[in-house]
Amino acid sequence: MNTDFEVAIVGGSLSGAALGLALAKRGIRVLILERDSMFRDRVRGEGMHPWGAAEAQALSILELLTDGCGQEVPYWTRHNPASTPVRRDLPATTPGKRGCVTFYHPAMQERLLRAASEAGAVVWRPSLVVRVAPGQRPELTVQIGGREQSLQVHLAVGADGRNSRMRVWGGFRVQKDPDLLRISGVLHADLDLDESSVHSLEEPVSGRKVLIFPIGGRSFRSYFVSRATDGAPLSGERHAQTFLDACLATGAPPIWLKHARTVGPLASFNVADQWVEHPYCDGIVLIGDAAAASDPCYGCGLSLTLRDVRTLRDNIAANPDWCAAAEAYADEHDRYFGALHRILSWNRNLSYASGPVAEARRTRVRDLLRRDPRRWPDFLGLGPDAPNDEAARRRFFGED
Ligand SMILES: Cc1cc2nc3c(=O)[nH]c(=O)nc-3n(C[C@H](O)[C@H](O)[C@H](O)COP(=O)(O)OP(=O)(O)OC[C@H]3O[C@@H](n4cnc5c(N)ncnc54)[C@H](O)[C@@H]3O)c2cc1C
Repeated sequence: MNTDFEVAIVGGSLSGAALGLALAKRGIRVLILERDSMFRDRVRGEGMHPWGAAEAQALSILELLTDGCGQEVPYWTRHNPASTPVRRDLPATTPGKRGCVTFYHPAMQERLLRAASEAGAVVWRPSLVVRVAPGQRPELTVQIGGREQSLQVHLAVGADGRNSRMRVWGGFRVQKDPDLLRISGVLHADLDLDESSVHSLEEPVSGRKVLIFPIGGRSFRSYFVSRATDGAPLSGERHAQTFLDACLATGAPPIWLKHARTVGPLASFNVADQWVEHPYCDGIVLIGDAAAASDPCYGCGLSLTLRDVRTLRDNIAANPDWCAAAEAYADEHDRYFGALHRILSWNRNLSYASGPVAEARRTRVRDLLRRDPRRWPDFLGLGPDAPNDEAARRRFFGED
């Protein structure tokens, strides 16, 4: 078995496959280690914001994502039980001139991993990484085909998701905001909704939200967002109707759901931003959810993951020293994740802070935002590049 690789990537999902593909295209000897022999629906991200679509384009994977396994959806419609819906034309109003890219997550994973392999990345699958010793030449221990295999590389990449073991082996300290929200997701077919738009709805008092992404062929990924303390988590077939009832109670028009069929697993997660500072240390670099899993209720995880892949790829291309390249990536990651974290925290604070002062502010700020939407840092179009300094904060909260 060939073990002569420059880079080993632990995890072959969006982050690992996209990085493996990008590095293989540059002639780097790269190995991707993925434990699952087949990807299944774990209720994960299926709507990538326009700023993520722009990242996909910069990585030359946009067509892979939109031809065959997904599509670019041009509109975002904000529904409001009390007034007419507001439809945003995303390509016309975002700097990258892109829509929202949507797909069935397991199909996206298979497609990217196959593309990485076709570009020259070696994929060991199923293979389970059980240990990594950090160092100038990090050493990985891998279980594959019933035996253990060791290999040393120049750079070991942790693309192993929100419960990353690479973080533990690398000695990284994980930081986490308190679990404030819960997101429940399920796959629906046959909703009576326009498939050229993402649909969102917020009930202003409770902050409960419904988000529906059309993913093609009359299928839709539906999410329901509530406070983490708001009743019991919805899970499994027995809660399929309760999920629909929760959407209706939030203000979803009954016509949307009249013919709804539940065609995938229903699962709930208590969520919050979770990250490490400076995701490089001693031969181990972290990307995607392993580096920073942003609160999925704001739908930035897929885009952030591709920002990581592009940033690491560009630093590796610009710097022949593996360690210096990874250090530079980690510096940039701190900056852009910090910016996104700030912007999403303002949004969370506005929607969910409690008490009479917070409620009065909510009413006042929402009115200001309705009259002048430019006050809102546009994290759909710009992600972490939206204004996020003190002046932006004051403008958002109407303190200017
Ligand atoms: C409920 C929910 C809804 C979401 N909705 C959205 C959304 O609408 N929009 C959005 O942008 N983002 C969303 N996200 C976030 C998005 O799904 C993630 O940011 C993204 O999938 C992260 O990809 P990743 O490659 O970093 O991690 P993962 O997809 O978790 O991949 C990690 C991979 O590593 C493999 N692995 C782990 N350990 C090992 C090991 N030891 N050896 C070998 N392989 C290993 C796993 O098998 C897996 O394939 C959502 C997340 C959740 C939980």
